[in-house]
Amino acid sequence: MSRFEDSDIKFLKGIGEARARLLCDQLDICTFRDLLDYFPFRYVDRSKFYSIDEFRGEMPLLQVKGEFISFRKEGEGRRRRLIGVFSDGRRMMECVWFSKVDALATVWQPHVPYVIFGKPSNFNGIWTMSHPEIEKYDAERPPVGLQGIYSMTDTIRKRGFSQRNIQTAVKNLLSLPGFNTISETLPANILSLFRFPDIHSSYRSLHFPTDADTLRRARERVKFEELFYLELQILRYSRDRGRKIAGQMMSRIGEKFNTYYSDCIPFDLTGAQKRVLKEIRADMRTGRQMNRLLQGDVGSGKTMVAFMTMLMGIDNGFQCAIMAPTEILATQHYETMREWCAKIGLRIELLTGSTKIGERRRIHAGLEDGSVNILVGTHALIEDKVEFANLGIAVIDEQHRFGVAQRAKLWRKNNIPPHVLVMTATPIPRTLAMTVYGDLDVSVIDELPPGRKPIDTWMRTYDRRGEVNRHIRRQIDEGRQVYIVYPLVHENEKLDLRSLEEGYEITKRAFPDVNVAMVHGQMPAMEKEREMQRFVTGEARILVATTVIEVGVNVPNATVMVIENAERFGLSQLHQLRGRVGRGADRSWCILMTKREIGADSRKRLGIMTETSDGFLISEADMKMRGPGDMEGTQQSGIAFNLKMANLATDGQIVQRAREAAMAILDANPELGVADEGMAADERYRLDERGRQIIIGEMRRRFAKEVDWSVIS
Ligand code: ADP
Ligand code: MG
Repeated sequence: MSRFEDSDIKFLKGIGEARARLLCDQLDICTFRDLLDYFPFRYVDRSKFYSIDEFRGEMPLLQVKGEFISFRKEGEGRRRRLIGVFSDGRRMMECVWFSKVDALATVWQPHVPYVIFGKPSNFNGIWTMSHPEIEKYDAERPPVGLQGIYSMTDTIRKRGFSQRNIQTAVKNLLSLPGFNTISETLPANILSLFRFPDIHSSYRSLHFPTDADTLRRARERVKFEELFYLELQILRYSRDRGRKIAGQMMSRIGEKFNTYYSDCIPFDLTGAQKRVLKEIRADMRTGRQMNRLLQGDVGSGKTMVAFMTMLMGIDNGFQCAIMAPTEILATQHYETMREWCAKIGLRIELLTGSTKIGERRRIHAGLEDGSVNILVGTHALIEDKVEFANLGIAVIDEQHRFGVAQRAKLWRKNNIPPHVLVMTATPIPRTLAMTVYGDLDVSVIDELPPGRKPIDTWMRTYDRRGEVNRHIRRQIDEGRQVYIVYPLVHENEKLDLRSLEEGYEITKRAFPDVNVAMVHGQMPAMEKEREMQRFVTGEARILVATTVIEVGVNVPNATVMVIENAERFGLSQLHQLRGRVGRGADRSWCILMTKREIGADSRKRLGIMTETSDGFLISEADMKMRGPGDMEGTQQSGIAFNLKMANLATDGQIVQRAREAAMAILDANPELGVADEGMAADERYRLDERGRQIIIGEMRRRFAKEVDWSVIS
């Protein structure tokens, strides 16, 4: 028997085939449940009528009571519009419609009381609402109070489907007898413990709140439930993995590691690097597969940790691979590690998209006969053609460019999957990391190598370009190098390229005696490589670039990072860019160039940059400003999930409670920790067609009914 909530939305009164298709395509509302779960994204107060006198610059959606005085049509073609002059009894405003002009012209009558709902804006001194919602004023009806606003697409609005229509649809659904048959998804003891409303009143309050307090409690219930099942899923799979997935046993600490560590290492490891290496070593001796996330701020020395980790693998008779997101980064790793390898007689090779066929064959052969110890590469490395004799360790650098599917491909390169170390410079708070990277154990390098000088960060407007250029000049005269970075401004490759090339010309004119290199994303790989090498070798003193240099590039001699149009960058990105300087022992600068007028948000972001260089503080601030869903690093992290209401950044307390509850349930019911039989290791997450994790409705219902929740108190 099919459930009420699974019914096709077309069966709802007033919807029908055509609208159902529209809702399903545009808003993902395909079933009754989808509609119920389509919560308003905000609420407006409709208990008060505004007068036009009260309108100010920035106002939310609001309502006005009054009458239309007259209607007229203006303009031609796409600019054709219907204008209704509306009076609240004292002042006038205009209502404007740009579509269905003729049809709408006859819908409303002059001199009849209406309530108009919309957002006022001021055009040349006239207050205007475009496409407002309009209803007859009914003195008998009580004022609405809080009203939910649903997010809509333009397409759906143009097809005449309004806020009002959604409200009516939800209202119809809630009044169906079937609505009361929807089963509860949280058990009674949880409801009473947290004083949550039951599922039916929650839905009612969320769509049609009677007051702010009931609304708050309903929202908390939904957030908790969402987070509880998310945490449960994550914990369930990570416990399962701990039990089941076999890994290579690498118990020996051998000759290569020891020789390198005692005779060749160019510096003393920091305490944090040592600690992380111990954590990794412990993983490798358990007989289970390591899946570890290594977080370390830019410049914290992750590369050496990766290298030492690979040495452990090699000492135990395995090959290792390290994968980087770009050719430039892969090449740089290769260059760095080749020197290290030479000292202890290891064979290292580089495989990228531009590796020549003959070279490629040689490398493939070396991989298959086991003579290549370390393979450095880009995506090219996970192609099916690339086969290893015995891959034991796979390192993924700057993981946010890799998705879970790519990681899984690496796993399959050996019968027993290799240990996986994922390195990222996008720091996120630990509790959040445990949720976002739920299937990974987390290690943190929270200490920079000694002798690093803090980076002076300046904000400068363009009228002070002369001062900035003089500073660049002084640094170049002292033998240092300089980055000048341009943002992707226009989201249009040609225009972006033009602004970069202009910047390149301006720079060359300002420093006519200096070699300037240029790198951008649309260059052929070979050329990009060549320009980059000119800078790395020091032949070019200035590098003008787009954000292709954002991750990983290491030129310790560079001491100035100029960021053009800095207001266009996000915090994390600014932090990454700044991390390109200050890598040597010299004093360094990061100069944030902006125009004079910038928005409050941008000002705040740039202010944070000048105040702190702590990656964790910055990422926390970033998360609060943008929400974790937007964060680089989480979008493509191991688990993609779709939270409708909860926010990992701002609902920290509920996350914590939900996680504790999920742990208690799993401790008391260990059999639940076993993932569905037959699920392959790399398919541990069920993903919907957009790659989001689905928390299966069936699972919720089963849980609510069959599991003993009394352990939570
Ligand atoms: P990231 O973590 O950003 O990848 P890198 O591994 O590129 O950082 O290291 C940044 C720089 O610091 C490199 O030049 C590296 O050689 C140096 N470095 C790493 N560890 C140490 C250390 N313990 N002492 C001194 N310098 C170090
Ligand atoms: Mg790095």
